[in-house]
Amino acid sequence: MRRILIVDCEQEISSFNPSPSEYEDFTVLRDAELFEAHAGADTCIRGFCDALGGKSDFRLIPVYGATACSAGPLSRKGFEKLSGELLAAIDKAAASEVAAIYLSLHGAMGAIGELDPEGYLLENVRSRLGLDVPIVISLDLHGLLTDRMLSNCDAIAVYHTYPHNDFTSTGQRAAKLMEAILERRAHPTMARIFIPALARGPELITETGLYGRIIDRAKAMERDGEALSAAVLIGNPFTDAPELGSQSLVITDNDAEKAQRLARELAEAFWADHKTMVAELTPLPDAIADAVRQDGPVTFTDAADAPSSGASGDSNVILSALVAAGYHGRAIIPVVDAPAAQRAHDAGVGARLRLSLGGAIDPKRFPPLEIEVEVERLYDGDYVHEFSRMPAHAGPTAVLRHENIRIIVVSKSVFMMDRAIFLAHGLDPEGADIIVVKSPGAAIRYFSFARKNYVLDIPGATSANLKSLGHTVCTRPMFPLDDDVPFSPTAQIYPARTKTAA
Ligand SMILES: [Zn+2]
Repeated sequence: MRRILIVDCEQEISSFNPSPSEYEDFTVLRDAELFEAHAGADTCIRGFCDALGGKSDFRLIPVYGATACSAGPLSRKGFEKLSGELLAAIDKAAASEVAAIYLSLHGAMGAIGELDPEGYLLENVRSRLGLDVPIVISLDLHGLLTDRMLSNCDAIAVYHTYPHNDFTSTGQRAAKLMEAILERRAHPTMARIFIPALARGPELITETGLYGRIIDRAKAMERDGEALSAAVLIGNPFTDAPELGSQSLVITDNDAEKAQRLARELAEAFWADHKTMVAELTPLPDAIADAVRQDGPVTFTDAADAPSSGASGDSNVILSALVAAGYHGRAIIPVVDAPAAQRAHDAGVGARLRLSLGGAIDPKRFPPLEIEVEVERLYDGDYVHEFSRMPAHAGPTAVLRHENIRIIVVSKSVFMMDRAIFLAHGLDPEGADIIVVKSPGAAIRYFSFARKNYVLDIPGATSANLKSLGHTVCTRPMFPLDDDVPFSPTAQIYPARTKTAA
């Protein structure tokens, strides 16, 4: 029976979040724990296992999993420990013969002292397992695909949806690539074209936007057998690394010319639309003035403080503005603030207190707000995400009330990409007037009942106002950071390298 090793390692960071993340922020799963955690979830690991787990000639070996909420760059020490553990677990599993390895990665990790963590991991996996062992990976379309990653893996499956709802099927597509290599002796040949553009905004929503039409073409390339895999990655604009940008990727069965031609088709289609892929942002005072005139709930999209993109989650900008404006409606607002959550827990349900809210992590952007609140409810912060059905660990959590405004104060940064943070804490978004959604895409996917969605122009480590962030590392010129950016599509080819394919 051929043993396939399974590894999960995912985090997305914002270089502009001032607080580094640590090893302790990761949920680490070893051996059987990895499969147990993913069994009922909507994840790439689950999809890969569903597709290949039942086949009698393969044995899937759970090796190591480490995932964390998006955050600031991982500390040097944190990355050393994480990568050391991951590679040691692979060494242990590789004591018996290994036929292949699948790694579920994100692509937008970043560590202090290592701007290409996924490339580092893949290079070290390759040097351990050798050229004989196929390495297949999956990536988020927000991933940064680097030369080092491409040089050290055999095939890649990339998400095709934004907001993401194809985790399981991406894992299944990765399994199909693995089967093509192991069973049909496919020779995966990769072509990628770097596109000097950072995209944001509603046109990226794949169901309705221009980007979705380009992804439809990539999907057709896979479906019709033109390509083993095809994608356009848009990168995470907040991960300031040398290969940040957008890129097309096409993998064919040993046909470099075709891979290059199809990658060029996708890259040119993307470039033709890149100037429309910018976010239109509403000033906060305008949004508040308009929201009070609406009959029914509206969403305030605070993509600038989206923990899922790597922001700190401690923005109080909307809360401060509503209080200053004397807003009397029902608003629900999540804020990451461990000291405030602790004070509420110490005071107990029903207590009234004056405390400082927000800016606990990034006080420069978010000056703390002194505010009178009542402690309405207290929680341990353990609940389940709606989008992935994976557990969230928000730490001690409090629902605080200031007039009709409810603030959900969590101790740790958690994904806020769905309704779970509200529903798990006794707040029904459909009963609110203003729902603050700290995610660029969640309003459309999970709050479609809202009368209106305002995408706000406010500060944050993941602001769609990209020029406001201050990139210093990525390649320049880069749209929209610079004017008059030239583009001449140039494909880099990565031929099949494993002996299996030779
Ligand atoms: Zn993503």
